[in-house]
Amino acid sequence: MSRASFLILSACWLLFLPELAHAGGEKNRLIAAEAEPQNWLTYGRTYGEQRYSPLVQINTATVSRLGLIWAADMETIRGLEATPLIVDGVLYTSGSWGMVMAFDVRTGKRLWKYDPQVPGYWARYGCCDVVNRGVAYWEGRIFVGSFDDRLIAIDAKTGQEIWQVNTIDRTRSYTITGAPRVVKGKVIIGNGGAEFGVRGYFSAYDADSGKMLWRFYTVPASNEGPHESLALSRAAATWSKATRWEAGGGGTVWDSMSYDPELDLLYVGVGNGSPWGREIRSPGGGDNLYLSSILAVDPDDGRLVWYYQTTPGDSWDYTATQHILLADLKLGGRIRKVLMQAPKNGFFYILDRETGELLSADKYINATWASHVDLKTGRPVETGQADWSNGPKVVMPFDPGGHNWQPMSFNPGTGLVYIPTHVGALLYKPVDKFTYRPGAENMGMDLPGIFRTFVGGEKTGVEKYPVYGELQAWDPVARKKIWGVVYPRTMNGGTLTTAGNLVFQGTGDGRFAAYKADDGTRLWQVSFGNGILGSPVTYSVDGRQYVSVLAGWGGAAMLGHDAGKFGRLKYINNGYLLTFALGGKAEFPDLEVRDYTLPKPPPPTGTKQQVENGMDLYHSHCARCHGAMAISINMLPDLRQSITRTSDVFADIVLDGLLQANGMAGFSDLLTKPDVEAIRAFIIKRANEDYQVQESSRR
Ligand code: CA
Repeated sequence: MSRASFLILSACWLLFLPELAHAGGEKNRLIAAEAEPQNWLTYGRTYGEQRYSPLVQINTATVSRLGLIWAADMETIRGLEATPLIVDGVLYTSGSWGMVMAFDVRTGKRLWKYDPQVPGYWARYGCCDVVNRGVAYWEGRIFVGSFDDRLIAIDAKTGQEIWQVNTIDRTRSYTITGAPRVVKGKVIIGNGGAEFGVRGYFSAYDADSGKMLWRFYTVPASNEGPHESLALSRAAATWSKATRWEAGGGGTVWDSMSYDPELDLLYVGVGNGSPWGREIRSPGGGDNLYLSSILAVDPDDGRLVWYYQTTPGDSWDYTATQHILLADLKLGGRIRKVLMQAPKNGFFYILDRETGELLSADKYINATWASHVDLKTGRPVETGQADWSNGPKVVMPFDPGGHNWQPMSFNPGTGLVYIPTHVGALLYKPVDKFTYRPGAENMGMDLPGIFRTFVGGEKTGVEKYPVYGELQAWDPVARKKIWGVVYPRTMNGGTLTTAGNLVFQGTGDGRFAAYKADDGTRLWQVSFGNGILGSPVTYSVDGRQYVSVLAGWGGAAMLGHDAGKFGRLKYINNGYLLTFALGGKAEFPDLEVRDYTLPKPPPPTGTKQQVENGMDLYHSHCARCHGAMAISINMLPDLRQSITRTSDVFADIVLDGLLQANGMAGFSDLLTKPDVEAIRAFIIKRANEDYQVQESSRR
């Protein structure tokens, strides 16, 4: 289709939605997705990503009769974060590692499963579990990014692979966790990895052939160039000559995208810097464009049209990869085409999506790093309280941000945005001297030192801050919270809102609930057991409205920002796809209670110095997944338990990757034999300490 006819179609789509869906055929289905409320054709339902459904069979009066009709085993104990798609009665969803399944909605029968066969060792290159947030649909094909960074096209009918392409330099620690979007026959995908030291970008691939059409790097590769684009030549001036270019700069595009067909602009959210601290990354540098920015690009060639940087010179992992939602709002007496985002940094932004002009920015949670955003300059005014370049600082929001990848939703009926927020502070502490290490975490944070403050019960100031999650109903016009529901866990699910005046959300403590969208009254709730992070969808088949959500704990939540309050998971973290409808009476799947009893550990080994050294190494390389002090607070093995079985083969596992198929990679590139012996000595010491406590409490 020519650009001219595309624009004409775009301009009239509001008037002729149902006709267009048929007349234009498959190519226009996504543009006219609004006209197919029975389906959920793209990640945010429509290109504007409002996650609002016009369906009303399930409403405030009927929702009390909502019940489970089927549950499907997702064959994983790892985190589930996807938004399923529904195309004409078939539900497509990704699971862990970028695996994809298709189900018949009426029966819950699985039609096919596609396994991208990701090598298990790739797990160590991800900050936050082996999750995947969803697939894209286009002309009978399903597109998914595998955790090891291959973009894959699958036949939607058969589940057979059509093509796959590698999207990265495989010597760097990239991962794909986000959902692709398809715009004008191009599959757009980015990746993550800024905690490990990578250079961020996103790319467009031809949906038919898999051929790469363009790539947009979000940060320069050097001061001098040559730069890949004019946008990067401009950005280079905002990085100092002393920039640690070997660490990649960061700026990964790991989640949010939306598209306005009328303006023909693709909006993309950019992540944090690598390493985190601005003075470590780019000493004496400037804003470090385009970190923590919202970019508007031309989807035809990837040319930058405008940008807005939320956190200039980001130092706190304040990504702007959070959900980008498009709406038309009446502001100051006239209708504005806006874009809304609640990025990690704690401010809710409204921009004119045509020009990038900042219209408002207001704190949706307490944020100590900046007092306000100056609407004239568009820049945050930093307080200075959060500058950790010379020593530790406690900063709010913490690194998961005030809001993370869990999508918000917008209900045109209530005029409210439903944001899954969280509250907490983090101790930011710099390393003495930053050295980039390939394959390791390269945040520039003194992780052993930070863990030692927890372990020693040291008062750092973090303890003064509350830790909780909150579903917020935010009025973008009045610029304030209208109602909120507080949750004990920080990480909860994405939100869905409907014309039935409802908001749906799963919770970190395993509930799935519906609230009255205008006032927040809870109208319905069920309990699954394991935490829910996924984003619910609603759709209809044969006149029956359904709601589906993925349930299974993990993702960044496995890092345990609220672990102190909750301790460990009650059940083995088997993940399920849950589907509900009015009158549903199915039983929830049984979950197996997890046994935390410690077997008798091997006798203590190693000198005091070795154990101390092992503790630091453990907290540099192992604690992210296996928990501080070897106490598992997520679904992964508790090493105080497993050391009894694995003590003799410990070096084979940790150095040589004996269990890499399970997701436990070898670390021979970072650790030596004596290092591993020291880590083993530390774990055995911890196992003995806690075993003694367990046995004495039994007596
Ligand atoms: Ca990050």
